[in-house]
Amino acid sequence: MNRRDFSKHILLLGLGTQSGCATANMRNVNSQPGSYYEEPAKKLPIRKFDVVVAGGGTAGVVAATAAARNGAKTALIEVKGYPGGTVTEGGTALHSFYNLWKAFPGVKKRQVVRGIAQEIIDRLLKVGGTSGHAEMSKGYNYDSVCTAIDTEMYKLVTFEMLVEAGVFTCVNTLLAGAIMDGSRIKGVIVESRSGREAFYAKAFVDCTAYGDLAAYAGADYTEPNDYAVCNSIGIANVSIDKYYEFLKSHDAITQQAEGRRSGKDGQIVRLDGKTVNLPDGFREGAGKIGMSMVTTTVHDNYFMFIKLNLKMPVSPTSRDAVAKAELVLRRRQARAIELFRQYVPGCEKAFIARTSPRLNIRRGRLISCDYDITLSDVLEGRHFDDDVMVYGFHDSAPRFQIKNGGTYGIPYQALRVAGIHNLLAAGMMITSNHDAHMSTRNTVCCMGQGQATGTAAALCAVKNCGTRELRYSDLRETLVKDNVYLETALSRK
Ligand SMILES: Cc1cc2nc3c(=O)[nH]c(=O)nc-3n(C[C@H](O)[C@H](O)[C@H](O)COP(=O)(O)OP(=O)(O)OC[C@H]3O[C@@H](n4cnc5c(N)ncnc54)[C@H](O)[C@@H]3O)c2cc1C
Repeated sequence: MNRRDFSKHILLLGLGTQSGCATANMRNVNSQPGSYYEEPAKKLPIRKFDVVVAGGGTAGVVAATAAARNGAKTALIEVKGYPGGTVTEGGTALHSFYNLWKAFPGVKKRQVVRGIAQEIIDRLLKVGGTSGHAEMSKGYNYDSVCTAIDTEMYKLVTFEMLVEAGVFTCVNTLLAGAIMDGSRIKGVIVESRSGREAFYAKAFVDCTAYGDLAAYAGADYTEPNDYAVCNSIGIANVSIDKYYEFLKSHDAITQQAEGRRSGKDGQIVRLDGKTVNLPDGFREGAGKIGMSMVTTTVHDNYFMFIKLNLKMPVSPTSRDAVAKAELVLRRRQARAIELFRQYVPGCEKAFIARTSPRLNIRRGRLISCDYDITLSDVLEGRHFDDDVMVYGFHDSAPRFQIKNGGTYGIPYQALRVAGIHNLLAAGMMITSNHDAHMSTRNTVCCMGQGQATGTAAALCAVKNCGTRELRYSDLRETLVKDNVYLETALSRK
């Protein structure tokens, strides 16, 4: 839907975009044509901030922390009861803080994502909540390090960081609309059990993964539906060492990394198995339920993120299609645990210790930004005059890798939502090309984008300017002060 269509829908509902409020997902409203209830207008209490960050997930916690640390009065709106998002619910580990030095002999090892993302890992290490940056000993054409996390400690640690930074952290709070003044967002509508409120701010960051705020604000977007959705499970009462022996005895190990597990260094923390070599019953069963074998762990008796993938026929913004998928995925989870119990030594008494609270998606809405990172930008290791971070990992490695084990830059212009005066975007909602997105959507890249957008939003608020009027040199200087790593020299003011 483009801005014109969106505005037309809003006018149909008598809402209007000029100093108006867009509060509903128009596609869902239109699912029952001809039958409408006209909601009476309400007076909402107003709270005022410098920066509002929508979505407290992978990118959002970093964005809000960065904004608050740079002096902005910041609110974070998160619908769940905790921060963390997909990093605590979907993936197997964090990819990747480093360049791909292992796959390119002779290339210097360097940590390319630092700043707040690294601080989270430092804090997790202190509470036994991560494997640390565990180097891959097998399958290092894919990644050089794997950083596994204890998902529950991640939620706590990031929550504490937000509060320490002074972020007004609104969990259990839904972002339900945008209040527009032309192309400028004046405020957002939030809903919680404390009621419906308006949060006004000078600058906004959309980190909702689905681009909810951008869509409410009337930005252009599409819904590519180009990935499987997934619900992943944590399996407890298992032995990772016996699982390792099982995979090894079938010559099935494709990825392996050693790091800290249950307080001891040098332990296996990541394993990927080639199902083709595994017993027929297991292989066939896993195929039927879309099960991926990659697992990580930071505890001796726990596997994280056994994934059950499902390709939906329509975009995951459809409530009813998602409801069907949620049930299918829960049935698949039950089948997955049966397979582990039946075939994998050490897992005879395994059980599901956690599931994702709702299905996860690698891409919901794709939001149009001022620049769209291309596949050749990624693979050629291109850098821009306005880089705000660099990244060096591709999820489809070794098929796709960044040239010579190097990095590419994420430019500031790729994080500015097109057509909106004061809105930035970070996370899985940017980058239209599927194969380029297979790099930019990864956790650590989203975290870096979070730091860039939160910092930029704070500077825009302080300088009282739109996202396009912010001087890149000011943004860069602040990012570098805050330990963000960049590879190119400042070429313009
Ligand atoms: C199944 C799966 C496996 C993956 N595996 C890996 C992997 O192994 N390694 C890796 O690096 N990456 C992996 N990824 C990719 C990576 O995890 C995601 O791309 C990344 O975490 C997305 O971050 P984000 O900040 O965009 O979104 P999220 O982390 O999802 O954050 C969005 C947040 O916004 C909140 N929110 C949404 N809408 C609203 C609203 N209207 N109001 C209030 N709050 C709202 C959500 O609750 C959530 O907390 C995987 C992704 C999936 C889905």
